[in-house]
Amino acid sequence: MTINTMRAVVLHGKENVAIEEVPVLSPGVGEVRIKVERALTCGTDVKVFRRGHHARMIQPPALFGHEFAGVIEAVGSDVDEWNVGDRVVAANSAPCDNCFYCLHGRQELCEDLLFFNGAFAERAIIPGRIAAKNMLRVSSNTPLECAAMCEPLACVVRSLELAPVEPGSTVVVLGLGPIGLMFVRLCVLAGCSVIAVGRREARLRLASKFGATETLNIDEQDDVVSKVRDCTPGTFGADVVIEAIGTPEAWSSAIAMVRKAGTVNLFGGCSAGSTITLDTARLHYDEVTLRASFHHTPTSFRRALQLISNSEVKAPSLISTHISLDEVPRILRELADGELDIIKACVVS
Ligand SMILES: [Zn+2]
Ligand SMILES: [Zn+2]
Repeated sequence: MTINTMRAVVLHGKENVAIEEVPVLSPGVGEVRIKVERALTCGTDVKVFRRGHHARMIQPPALFGHEFAGVIEAVGSDVDEWNVGDRVVAANSAPCDNCFYCLHGRQELCEDLLFFNGAFAERAIIPGRIAAKNMLRVSSNTPLECAAMCEPLACVVRSLELAPVEPGSTVVVLGLGPIGLMFVRLCVLAGCSVIAVGRREARLRLASKFGATETLNIDEQDDVVSKVRDCTPGTFGADVVIEAIGTPEAWSSAIAMVRKAGTVNLFGGCSAGSTITLDTARLHYDEVTLRASFHHTPTSFRRALQLISNSEVKAPSLISTHISLDEVPRILRELADGELDIIKACVVS
């Protein structure tokens, strides 16, 4: 039977997404077509839904969604490595490996990063470059919905490569969305003592389950910065503070929570054009280091799949609900309105 169309979520602009019938394409040279089995919602999707676009990742009209895993159902010409029936997870991008940044070990900053969107669909064509460089086989004992979490986890892995944490360090993780919770887990695995700071009780409990030694509910503190400092050895402040909220206020708080000679990892992306004011004394007299990171690399993507496959990161605990493709527009709307308290929704197509 020839399949001519499929259902997919299409982004049309600001707060405008729709389920549509779109053509099912044949894979071209180097490409593969995946039957998407599981896709996940992500904070970036909600951001894009609100703004209608993302400068680097997606411009409407476009197929939407970027965290997914599935099974290969067709391969294009010149594809030797992949076969129909392979269970795979593909990253949402692949670097060129030729530009200045790629050649200097910073593939996440590739000048020609090729992005994929279209995970909220029944099928997906994976561009040749991604199929060749950033698509991985998923073992039969790793659920595809767990493998779909490789992309965000790879960003966290990359971030900790650029701003490493030492065993025995006291690390504050500010913000307990999926990314913050992944930071909690990786810092615990690295032997750190983690203070998890968030807002919702269920997430604070999950942070404890992931191994955080201390949890603080922001809403219950008058002065969260001094409360955090009180929890650190000698009340000096944390050795490392990881910001995973993405607001200028949170960036400023993170900088205020670190000890002298400590490191602040500013992970959360704030809205375009936003700025923060820096207390110059904090940087100069206190010798504070500021780091930031964006995205992932093929190496961190591979490491993420290992962490999920061997259950060092318990992906199932980050999935709050399962939904159908038809429910995606409503869920995005509710997430954007702040009406819904879920960590990640898994889309079963
Ligand atoms: Zn994502
Ligand atoms: Zn490049």
